[in-house]
Amino acid sequence: MAARRHEESAMFDVIVIGGGPAGLMAAATAAGRGASTLLLERMDRPGRKLRICGKGRGNIGNTAPMDDFLNHFGKGFRFLRPAFSHFFTEDSVEFFARLGVPTKVERGGRIFPENDNAQDLVDALVRNVKNQGAAIQTGRRIRKIQFTDTGFELFSDQTHRGRHVVLATGGASYPATGSTGDGYALGTSLGHSIVSPRPALVPLVTEGDTATRLQGLSLKNVRAELRVDGKKTGSEMGEMLFTHFGLSGPIILTLSKAAVQALEARKKTEILIDLKPALDPAKLDTRLLRDLDDHGKMFVENLLRGLLPPKLIPVCLDQTGLSGTKAAHQVSAAERKILRNWLKELRFTITACRPLREAIVTAGGVPLCEVNPKTMQSRVQPGLFLAGEVLDMDADTGGFNLQAALSSGYLAGLNAASL
Ligand SMILES: Cc1cc2nc3c(=O)[nH]c(=O)nc-3n(C[C@H](O)[C@H](O)[C@H](O)COP(=O)(O)OP(=O)(O)OC[C@H]3O[C@@H](n4cnc5c(N)ncnc54)[C@H](O)[C@@H]3O)c2cc1C
Repeated sequence: MAARRHEESAMFDVIVIGGGPAGLMAAATAAGRGASTLLLERMDRPGRKLRICGKGRGNIGNTAPMDDFLNHFGKGFRFLRPAFSHFFTEDSVEFFARLGVPTKVERGGRIFPENDNAQDLVDALVRNVKNQGAAIQTGRRIRKIQFTDTGFELFSDQTHRGRHVVLATGGASYPATGSTGDGYALGTSLGHSIVSPRPALVPLVTEGDTATRLQGLSLKNVRAELRVDGKKTGSEMGEMLFTHFGLSGPIILTLSKAAVQALEARKKTEILIDLKPALDPAKLDTRLLRDLDDHGKMFVENLLRGLLPPKLIPVCLDQTGLSGTKAAHQVSAAERKILRNWLKELRFTITACRPLREAIVTAGGVPLCEVNPKTMQSRVQPGLFLAGEVLDMDADTGGFNLQAALSSGYLAGLNAASL
């Protein structure tokens, strides 16, 4: 209690707002550099979002080389280069191994804890903050911040004072984890502008009832193509999922940012799913011809079992107009062509995206031009540092966002302790 009262009244060198991966990394790094450091987290425990990352497995990073890695934030993205040159993938892997959480690499260079448990990442980060000598207070929601001639005053149910502040409050998606977008108001009160928050990596809502009919079906090794006003704007190969409202799963989430932009511009937005990406139209035609010839007496619906998961068969029959009880040898060349085209282009019109609270990542936030990428210090308010998703940056799925939080948190903590 006495220690707590001391923390309350003391002037800290560094106060970190937010106990996500960015804030935990910033606090440990600042404390490790000898700065008296306090981390304030509004929830009862830090790292609530991190523990649900990667379906609870915590895709903490990616082995992509730096240039490729940066491109996952958008073509030509450079803002994080200095942060990555201080703390990148290898550092992260070594860091967690040192803290007792060895990692492994999976498909697409995705890095996970060896035991598939994101909570271990949270525990390791929290342990590290404490070991480096920083204090953590939970249940402290910072509602107001002001700059005075002696430094910053922060207000929760108490007043906290710090020479430097790291704002690491995250975005505004999955608010039950504590990331409710508070950082935008706090940043604005110190003079920052905000790029309006919007969903990135978000499931998409489709027209009609096809997705609803298919809900629960997950497809692996398919290709999804995004078409905007009839023009191909993106294409991803991998896994997707049908839900009661539309489309989700990794390849859909990756295409969602461009889809959201197209929807905002009121452009016609479609996703075309190639169910047989390994076969070009000519090869697929040969395969269909062979199947129809080899099983001439078989009903079409039975023949389709060799081509499609059961849930897709009634949808296929409805959309192609083929009769399921027609014998294979009766299928005409024109009908075969319709089937082939359907298999290559299962078409969905996108009408909306799911709300920001359901997005994996928030796009928008504090504009990058208002932050010095070499230090993560605000260009607007000296002594203020920013890290993680509160900034206007977002990347594809694959571990890029968590690495961004860790690396920017590291650089912010380093400089908040020394500048
Ligand atoms: C379901 C899901 C799965 C994901 N999976 C992955 C994945 O596998 N790999 C990947 O790279 N990324 C993943 N992400 C994205 C990743 O979780 C975020 O990009 C990352 O957590 C951002 O870190 P952060 O520290 O900036 O913010 P956050 O993790 O959001 O942490 C911010 C913290 O600040 C606290 N806070 C907010 N306001 C205040 C306040 N006023 N006072 C005090 N504290 C405050 C919050 O309670 C929170 O603890 C996933 C996201 C979701 C929602």
